[in-house]
Amino acid sequence: MDPAPAASVSDGAGVADNGVEPTPAPSPVTDRIVLLDPGHNGGNAANPAAINKKVPDGRGGTKACNTVGSSTDANDEYYAVAEHAFNFDIALRVKELLESKHVVVKMTRADDKGVGPCVNKRAEMASEVNADAMVSIHADGAAASGHGFHVAYSKPPLNAAQGTPSVSLATALRDSMSGEGLIISTYIGKQGLSARDDLAGLNLSKRPAALVECGNMKNPDDQVAMSNPQGRQRFAEGIAAGILDWLTHNSAQSLRAVTSGKTKSTTSESASSETKSTATTKSTASAKSKSSSSPSTTKSTPKSTSSGSSSTTKSSTAN
Ligand code: ZN
Repeated sequence: MDPAPAASVSDGAGVADNGVEPTPAPSPVTDRIVLLDPGHNGGNAANPAAINKKVPDGRGGTKACNTVGSSTDANDEYYAVAEHAFNFDIALRVKELLESKHVVVKMTRADDKGVGPCVNKRAEMASEVNADAMVSIHADGAAASGHGFHVAYSKPPLNAAQGTPSVSLATALRDSMSGEGLIISTYIGKQGLSARDDLAGLNLSKRPAALVECGNMKNPDDQVAMSNPQGRQRFAEGIAAGILDWLTHNSAQSLRAVTSGKTKSTTSESASSETKSTATTKSTASAKSKSSSSPSTTKSTPKSTSSGSSSTTKSSTAN
C-alpha cells in the first residue's frame, strides 16, 4: 500500500495541521567538524622504513613517523587484538554515533590496511579539514597490573588551541567515559587526565585536541572489555558523548576567536582538574628535545597523600 501523502497526515506528532513540520531548534553540534584519529595502522608493522622515518615532534625534536602500537598478549583468537584494529573499530563506532547527531566526521585514515600517516601529518589534517576538534583514539600497552582509561592533552600548550579548549576537551572526554562506567586509569595521570609534552600529534595540532587511551591492552580486565562488541560500544559511547558535550559548550565562534588569537590567551590551566598536580609536570625538562627514548629521567616525587593514581609513567603506544 502506498504511504499517504504528507499533506494528508493529521495525527503525526510534530506535524502541524498544514502538513508542514515545525522547524526544529538548531542543534549546536549540527555541521560541526570533528577529526577522529585512530592511532597507528594495519600496515605499519610490515613497513618499518616508512614508519621509522623521523618527523618533527612539535617541540624542537624529532620522533618516529608512526609506530606499530600495542596488542593484547592473548593467544586465544577471540582475545588476541591488535591496537591498530581496535582503534579503527572504535573510531568507526564513534563516527556513527556522531553522524547520527549530524556532526561532520573526518578520519585520519580510511581503513586499517595502510601505512601511517605520520603523526605530524595527522595533526596537519585537523587544520586542513577545519576541524573543531581532533580526538585521537588509542589503547595502551603498560604493565599488566594497571588498568582503566586516561585522556592526554598537550602541556605546556604551544598555541591557544592547546590551552583551555584542549584541556576542556580532555576533561569532557574523561567525564563522559567515567559517566559511561568506564574505569579511570589506576596507573597513569591524575584523575584520568594526563598532561604530556611528548606526543607529536598533540604538540603539532592547531586545533583543540586530545588523545584517549581507552585502556591497557596488557591488563586482563581491559582486554576483555576491548575484545567484545558490547565493551567496544561502551568506549565509543563514552567518547562520542564527551565530544558532543564539548561541542555543545564550545561554539564555533568562540573556538574561532581563540584559535585566531582574538581573545586573551587561554593557556592557563584553569579548566583542568589537574591544576594542582605537580606530579606530572616536568617543567625543567620540558624543553629537552632529545627525542626522548628515556621518558623517566625526570621523575618527580609526588608528595601528596592522594590516591596513588598519579604517576609520571608515560603510556607507551602513542606518538
Ligand atoms: Zn597507540
